[in-house]
Amino acid sequence: MVTRRELYSRIPPLPGRPTFPEAVRATKKLHRFVRKSKCGWKFEETSGNRYTWVRGNTCFINVDKGWGDFIHLLSHYLHRASTGENHSKDHARLELRMRKEVLRRGWLDGRLKDKGRVKVPPSPIDKIQKRRDQIIRLERKIKGLTTRLKTAKRSLSALERNQKKTQQPPTVEV
Ligand SMILES: [Zn+2]
Repeated sequence: MVTRRELYSRIPPLPGRPTFPEAVRATKKLHRFVRKSKCGWKFEETSGNRYTWVRGNTCFINVDKGWGDFIHLLSHYLHRASTGENHSKDHARLELRMRKEVLRRGWLDGRLKDKGRVKVPPSPIDKIQKRRDQIIRLERKIKGLTTRLKTAKRSLSALERNQKKTQQPPTVEV
């Protein structure tokens, strides 16, 4: 079985530092990624030794210590809010997923920058992943519809059998 330490050791480093607007965009996207829901927080920039953390409905973000520290604390907040845990295997898994997303989406390459946003064309990996997701969605839909079609066919045959019966004279005992 994989240990907690091993899981933490798989977490890739995230060099560099986001700007505050980039960190806000990253937070919103990661909120959606982790919680599958829209992020309703307000954002405020903080600095020095203050942590990136959510108090009330305000997410305070400190970008001074870079991407790694920011994502680490955000993952702790998202994990703690739903489980009450601090460091755990589940937290390590969540942080790993979040960091991979940051890398996969090219945020370290400036994809979250405003105005002169660096236009990075989607990588072949992105395209393949997109196509894969598309195939999975289609397969799911086809499966769902096939099941419904089978059920409908069964109901229809039952109705037709009933209809046939009604066309025969009823057996009446005299
Ligand atoms: Zn930690």
